[in-house]
Amino acid sequence: MALLAILQYPDPRLYKVAAAVTAVNDDIRRLIKDMSDTMYAAPGVGLAATQVDDHRRVIVIDISDTHDKLQVFINPEIIESSGVATCEEGCLSVPGIFDKVERAEQVKVRALNEKGERFELTASGLLAVCIQHEMDHLRGKVFVEYLSPLKQGRIKTKLVKAQKTER
Ligand code: ZN
Repeated sequence: MALLAILQYPDPRLYKVAAAVTAVNDDIRRLIKDMSDTMYAAPGVGLAATQVDDHRRVIVIDISDTHDKLQVFINPEIIESSGVATCEEGCLSVPGIFDKVERAEQVKVRALNEKGERFELTASGLLAVCIQHEMDHLRGKVFVEYLSPLKQGRIKTKLVKAQKTER
């Protein structure tokens, strides 16, 4: 089991745009294993490769209470979305901060699984929120960027201060 370091907002590496995975091989499967170990240990319900400073389009999600329903999305694309829902979100890269974000209520995603097989999935509720939140990371976007500039400024100040104290 390998735990990876999670980048903390406002680390500039969180703004990098991830590249498509060209081959789903053992290297990618090792990344998925390390990412899921890291997510479960945190603990969190989702993690994007961007957050562990690997800039390939890979997401892991597990919204189950039992932590045994891992969902892997490689090169995910949202092919349909509908409705509007507001949910309070948090992020392993933005510890201790929770705020409401408006997103699509339902999304249809196309992606590859850890075997390299293509699948499509229609998600709503928490899973839809997670998918959209993690896909934002792959685009270099953190959820706090949906908040007002005033709130973003406060969050940055708070986290930078906390990170200095940790060192
Ligand atoms: Zn996040």
